[in-house]
Amino acid sequence: MKQLRKAKINEFKAHFRGDVLLPGDEGYDEVRQIWNAMIDRRPALIARCKSPEDVLQSVKIARKHNLLVSVRGGGHNIAGNAVCDDGIMIDLSLMKRVSVDPTSRRAFVEPGCTLADFDAAAQKHGLATPLGINSTTGVAGLTLGGGFGWLSRKYGMTVDNLLSADVVMADGSQVLASEKENNDLFWGLRGGGGNFGIVTKFEFQLHPVGPDVLSGLIVFPFSQAKSVITQFARFTETMPDELSVWMVTRKAPPLPFLPADVHGKEIVVLALCYAGNPAEGEKLIAPLRKFGTVLGEHIGVQPYTAWQKAFDPLLTPGARNYWKSHNFSQMGEGAINAIIEYAAKMPSPQCEIFIGTIGGQTTRVAPEAMAYSSRDAKYVMNVHGRWETSAEDERCIAWAREFFAKSQPFASRGAYINFLTQEEAGRIAFAYGATYKRLVELKKKYDPTNLFRMNQNIKPI
Ligand SMILES: Cc1cc2nc3c(=O)[nH]c(=O)nc-3n(C[C@H](O)[C@H](O)[C@H](O)COP(=O)(O)OP(=O)(O)OC[C@H]3O[C@@H](n4cnc5c(N)ncnc54)[C@H](O)[C@@H]3O)c2cc1C
Repeated sequence: MKQLRKAKINEFKAHFRGDVLLPGDEGYDEVRQIWNAMIDRRPALIARCKSPEDVLQSVKIARKHNLLVSVRGGGHNIAGNAVCDDGIMIDLSLMKRVSVDPTSRRAFVEPGCTLADFDAAAQKHGLATPLGINSTTGVAGLTLGGGFGWLSRKYGMTVDNLLSADVVMADGSQVLASEKENNDLFWGLRGGGGNFGIVTKFEFQLHPVGPDVLSGLIVFPFSQAKSVITQFARFTETMPDELSVWMVTRKAPPLPFLPADVHGKEIVVLALCYAGNPAEGEKLIAPLRKFGTVLGEHIGVQPYTAWQKAFDPLLTPGARNYWKSHNFSQMGEGAINAIIEYAAKMPSPQCEIFIGTIGGQTTRVAPEAMAYSSRDAKYVMNVHGRWETSAEDERCIAWAREFFAKSQPFASRGAYINFLTQEEAGRIAFAYGATYKRLVELKKKYDPTNLFRMNQNIKPI
C-alpha cells in the first residue's frame, strides 16, 4: 500500500471528484467507523464517492492494483463488511439523492440514503415502500439482502418492490438491471447482496401509506411470557396483511409509560403497525390487550415517519453487537420455550430476542423468482446480543450462540442473509437454499475474480 500511496494516489485523485481519505487524515477515523463497534478496521484508502463516475474510478483503481474492496452504504451491517483492512473502502454515504415521481409512484434512490432519507421523501407524497424498522439503516444493504419491515406483509419484501438498479460491474462496465435488461443480474441483485456489482441508483415501486398510521407498543410482564407469546403466535397466523405485530423480549428500558418498578426487569413487548384506516386497526388490535396484564402501552395514530424512528434510541451506533438469526414458518411451543429460557438470562440490559413477523405478501412470490428465496418464512428471529465493553464480549456472545443452538431444531429452511455475522460463511448456501446454485453461476459470469468478496460471499467456484 505504501507504494500505491506514493505512485498512484495522485493519479486516482485526478479522476475522482469525491473526497479521498488516507490514514491520519482528519475524518478518517470517523468515516471508517460503522454501526457495530466490534468492527475496527483500517482501510488504506477511503473513496468517498459523489457520483457513479466516482464509483467507477474506485473500481478501476481496485482492479488495477488488486486491492481488497469493501462497499459502504449505510454502514449498518452486523458482519462489518462495509470496511476492510488495508484495501479500498468505497464509501457511498455521500450519495443521498432521492427523487419521487408521485404519478407513477416510483422513487429513484441513491445508495448512501438511509431509510429516514427515503421515507421522508416518499411520505411528502403519502407514499412508501417496505423498508426496515430502524431509520438509520442504509437502503442499499437492506435492499440487496431482501429487506423487510412494517409494510412487508402488505407489500412484500423490499426486493419485491425493486424495479431497476444502475450498477457498476467488476469489469468496469455500467449497466442497468431490470426485468427487461440484464434480467439475470436483476434476479441476482434481489437478495444476492453486494456480490455482483455496486448499485449507484435504485428504482422502487411506492404505495400509498399513512401519512399517519396506528402504531405503538403494548408491554406485558415476563411472568406471563408463555401465555402472551403463545397467543401472539396464534394471532399472527391469521391477522390481515395490513397488520404487523412483532414480539420483543428484553429488560425494560426506562420508558415513561412503564411503571418505575418495571424498569430493568424482563418484559414482553408487542410492537405493532396497521397500514390501513386507523379506526379499522383499533378494532383489530383490541384482542392483543387481553393477552395478559398490560403493564403499559403507548399506542396511537402518528406519522409513519415517526414510527419508523421509534426504535432508533435503542439501536444507536457505538455499542458492541453480536446477532444470530433463524427463520420460522411457525412459532411452536419448542421455539417459545427456548425464547423464554434464554430471555430469563439476558446478559446485558441491551440484549433482546425479537420475532419479526413477515408472511402475507412476502410468501406469495415463488422461491426461485429472485435470489431471496425464503418464501416460507413467516417469522424472522434475531437474538440480538448488545453490550458496551469488550470485557462482556465472551459472556454475551456465548448467550446468543447457546440460544441459537437451542432454538435451531424448531427453525425452518433458509436464513436472512442480512442478519448473518462475519463468522457465518458456512451458512451462506443454507441461507439461500433453492437459489444458491444459480447464484454461483451468476457470480462466475459477473465477478469471476471475486473482486466483490467483502460480503456474505458467493464464491465463483
Ligand atoms: C439496528 C439494525 C436494525 C435493522 N433492522 C432491519 C429490519 O428491520 N429489516 C431488515 O430487513 N434488515 C434490518 N437490518 C439489517 C440490515 O438490512 C443490514 O444490516 C443491511 O446490510 C444494512 O445495509 P447498510 O447499507 O446500512 O449496510 P452496509 O454495512 O453499508 O452494507 C452492507 C453490505 O451491503 C453491500 N452493499 C452496500 N451498499 C451497496 C451497494 N450500493 N452496491 C452493492 N453492494 C452494497 C456490501 O457488501 C456491504 O458490505 C437492521 C440492521 C441493524 C444494524
